[in-house]
Amino acid sequence: MSYIFGVDLGGTTVKIGLFQENTLLEKFEIPTRIENGGQAILPDIGAAILDCMDRNAITHSEVRGIGIGVPGPVDAQGVVNCCTNLNWGVFNLHEALSAITGLPVVGGNDANCAALGEYYCYGGEGSAIFVTLGTGVGGGIILDGKLLNGAHGSAGEIGHITVPAKDKLPCTCGKWGCIECYASATGISHMAKLRMDRELSCKEVFDLAKNGDEKAAEVLEEVFDLLGEAIASACCVIDPDRVILGGGVSKAGEYLRKGVEKYFNIHKFHACEGTEVCLSRLGNDAGMYGAMRLISQGQ
Ligand code: ZN
Repeated sequence: MSYIFGVDLGGTTVKIGLFQENTLLEKFEIPTRIENGGQAILPDIGAAILDCMDRNAITHSEVRGIGIGVPGPVDAQGVVNCCTNLNWGVFNLHEALSAITGLPVVGGNDANCAALGEYYCYGGEGSAIFVTLGTGVGGGIILDGKLLNGAHGSAGEIGHITVPAKDKLPCTCGKWGCIECYASATGISHMAKLRMDRELSCKEVFDLAKNGDEKAAEVLEEVFDLLGEAIASACCVIDPDRVILGGGVSKAGEYLRKGVEKYFNIHKFHACEGTEVCLSRLGNDAGMYGAMRLISQGQ
């Protein structure tokens, strides 16, 4: 009987799941204390995990390891490189958390972890592109069962594909016209401001459109067109079986999925016929499930 911990480390809370044979047995959350350079974060996580083992009478030899997703780049050796949301600098995450818990640790980028979680939730076969639409636009790529990291740990940065938008907007990355500027929650809100001259949240834009507001629907058509084109470009390179839409914006559900699917089909390369456009199944738990897969699948 072996157990695995899956940890999704976010800027405000840490989600921790205890898994056995890929099944979630128990999950809990602790606050992320980012003050003082985020020094308390790993000791807090370690204490919560050891406490959970105590409660369930689980010994160290029964735990295969801890998979942990963090909001920033992590290299194969476990070195994190400036997770600005956590006030972290550069250090070895694997060694640091292992020293606290006495357990093997494998870290990964949070969007890549969410991609892994969703990929296995959808059957764990073939290739998939996961697109997370939140404050920004991120993503992860699973190619023939293997998480794609790339030469600089930045494979799957779908958000920084540039699109032929009418308004070239500046991106936080320093480029202009990245899809993140239009299709993130902030981007959609910004587009509503530009086209409707109204201060609306992303959710309000979707709610208006769903209730028949033509202007809001037009804003979203423009967003779906750009996002469908960015995803179609990524699919020219990867040729996945499916594209999975996640992140907070994906709570808009079928309205979003159908809109993106429509424009994906307009912009796709003809051989990508049959690529499915799907919605996240795990929601906020995707990162935690995927972190567990870092251990169980040896990613
Ligand atoms: Zn960018």
